[in-house]
Amino acid sequence: MNKTVRVRFAPSPTGALHVGGAHTALFNWLWARHNGGKFILRIEDTDRERSTQEYEDTIMAGMRWLGLDWDEGPVKGGDYGPYRQSERLDLYHKFAEQLVEEGKAYREGTAIIFKTPSGVPLAFDDVVYGRIEVMSDTLKDTVLIKSDGMPTYNYAVVIDDHCMGITHVIRGEDHISNTPKQLMIFDALGWEYPVFGHLPMILGKDKKKLSKRHGATSVYEFRDMGYMPDSVFNFLALLGWSAGDDKEVFSREEAVSLFELSRVIRRAAVFDMDKLDHINQEHLKLLDPMVRLELVEPFWREMGLPVDDHGREYLAQSLTCLEGRGKTAREAAAYSDYFVSFKPVKERYDGSDVDEEQKATLRRFNGELLNLTDWKAAAMEEFARSWSAENSVKMRDIAMPLRMALTGMKVSPGVFEVAGQLGREEAARRLRHFGFLD
Ligand code: GLU
Repeated sequence: MNKTVRVRFAPSPTGALHVGGAHTALFNWLWARHNGGKFILRIEDTDRERSTQEYEDTIMAGMRWLGLDWDEGPVKGGDYGPYRQSERLDLYHKFAEQLVEEGKAYREGTAIIFKTPSGVPLAFDDVVYGRIEVMSDTLKDTVLIKSDGMPTYNYAVVIDDHCMGITHVIRGEDHISNTPKQLMIFDALGWEYPVFGHLPMILGKDKKKLSKRHGATSVYEFRDMGYMPDSVFNFLALLGWSAGDDKEVFSREEAVSLFELSRVIRRAAVFDMDKLDHINQEHLKLLDPMVRLELVEPFWREMGLPVDDHGREYLAQSLTCLEGRGKTAREAAAYSDYFVSFKPVKERYDGSDVDEEQKATLRRFNGELLNLTDWKAAAMEEFARSWSAENSVKMRDIAMPLRMALTGMKVSPGVFEVAGQLGREEAARRLRHFGFLD
């Protein structure tokens, strides 16, 4: 019988949840969910000076925002706790003492140091990188317990991975070089190795290490820029893995069912914000209008627009009118501000590009338009076509000023759709303001 898959994400609470950490967490989560296993959150807070409760909280909030729920961990609890290393010191001391007694480690003051055996091959088959083997002689003796009584990373990680029943260790490739040191400790304690799978490094488009220059680096920045959790999830999942058939846009459920650790690519993954834009735009299109509204609304509010002056249906429908314009919720909010208020329109447009003669024509056309029985885009458009033909006025010469007066933008969804959505009264008010209607 196969063992239940148990994986862990083991961040040190010394900073926010960055792209690399979120990526590691996500791949662990996917592997747990794909196998119906358990995803464990373990806080590696043995660096007492740099670890803070605030960072632990932000990491957890970032994971929640991405929808990476853990089955065991701080707050949640579980049978293998506690889940903070600072609360597991007894355990680290117990095994270190045992190693000293067995002559496999020695004391140096209050510190305990592991004696590297000589001539021992240390090998593992990495699911992603293949077989990796080093001779123990290349490794120095390893500190297990520091003089302040705290365990080192390479030691505590072994104790915890074993005692928490971890079956797969999935983490960044920067830990490959640590793995042989950890294998020695597994061996010394007579414990079986978990399966190791190291994830490729994430680089910017310029092939340099990921930094601020490449766009968002902490998970919260994505949120503040108006990206949806589902798209950030989708985007991170594509770093070093593919769902097959060049499929780029997928749901969480699809990712869970398709994910395979053995299909992780070892080549460094490139972090490309343009791709995130594309993915986010596709996810936005798929949303239920009311859910989309909830995402866009905070950005309208941030822009100072009177959201509460309108009904929910009207606002949701206004966003539907955008027909997928806007790569982020923030952009969608900016592209649709005129549905929420006339103010931004007046700030962008003053009507001075239209001379008196044109205005007279517009007043004639708009006067008749406003009298249509049916205030629907299709009817308006049909009327505009026949009116422009009968009066030998180009369609664009009536449609463009109409668009400018209603939206203040040169590019917008179909102008009659916009007029239909704004409603007859509001459209009339705006046209009158610019002298395009009597
Ligand atoms: N605390 C380590 C880190 O943040 C965990 C590495 C591991 O997963 O073993 O990199």
